[in-house]
Amino acid sequence: MHPSRRHLLLFAAIVAILGGAFLYAVWRAPEPIPPGSRPLEIHVLDVGQGDSLLIISPMGKAVLIDAGPPEAGDTVVSALRREGVHELSLVVATHPHADHIGGMVDVLEAFPVKLFLDSGQVHPTRTVARMLETIREKGIAFLIAEAGQEFELEEGITLHVLAPMKPPITHTRGDVLNANSIVLLLTDGSFSMLFTGDSERETERRLLQAYPSLSAQVLKVAHHGSRYATQQSFLERLRPEIAVISCGAGNRYGHPAQQTLDRLRAVVRAIYRTDIHGEITISVTRGSYWIETEYPTSPDVWVGRPSGLRSTGDQSVAVPGRARR
Ligand SMILES: [Zn+2]
Ligand SMILES: [Zn+2]
Repeated sequence: MHPSRRHLLLFAAIVAILGGAFLYAVWRAPEPIPPGSRPLEIHVLDVGQGDSLLIISPMGKAVLIDAGPPEAGDTVVSALRREGVHELSLVVATHPHADHIGGMVDVLEAFPVKLFLDSGQVHPTRTVARMLETIREKGIAFLIAEAGQEFELEEGITLHVLAPMKPPITHTRGDVLNANSIVLLLTDGSFSMLFTGDSERETERRLLQAYPSLSAQVLKVAHHGSRYATQQSFLERLRPEIAVISCGAGNRYGHPAQQTLDRLRAVVRAIYRTDIHGEITISVTRGSYWIETEYPTSPDVWVGRPSGLRSTGDQSVAVPGRARR
């Protein structure tokens, strides 16, 4: 073959390969997601022993409920970045325990926040002081939660504040800060999910009294699955299909408790735990929802953890030197 002809053929072959690759790339390129077509998403972040839940509406409005323990600040911030969050419409601190607000300063430093919703409970710790200081420094609007408040994320998607109610709970077998947690109900037409913070049986009793028709398809189980919440009467009223528990692998608090898992098993279709499944994502669209998890499920989902703490009548009461959660 003449050398110039060979070059021509080689050139034609390269053009054909590159052209094919280009056409394949065009064909494979994902369609840009038009605003409004993304499902409503709830991410139960894997923050170890603590809570942090991110809600993103189809139009991209983001709400963060709690920010995990101090060591999870980076995890929460990266999860928000990964989900394309540029601004938080609302940040909720269900109550001032460190496993719920420990990562808050990292979040407030990383994202502009339109409104901060607090339980209004006084808890004199450095973590709380730093959080309040950051809110003040950044000039973030600050609101104390009260049952009856509503936040519309976008048309048809609303977060309802169900608790704390007035007057605050002053007596509990557990912890008053937990019992006065902010409780939220997210509703989207035919879907609803209840966020309970670390609430306790007294909180549940009040919720049953105040909202006789309360129901939710998905329940964020209270207090990491502690045995002193998630009472049978509460579950019978709520009738959740799915339960999610946020708790740390190998935690010494006995979360979740076997009794709580047994009560849930009698009611729910499935249970998801961050200590087993990692991050749990609930996607909601047009009346149906589905769950995705970071790790596969395991038969251990129905196995509780023994408490490594002394018996004080409540597992949230830690041994000396160990922070309350
Ligand atoms: Zn907690
Ligand atoms: Zn707590």
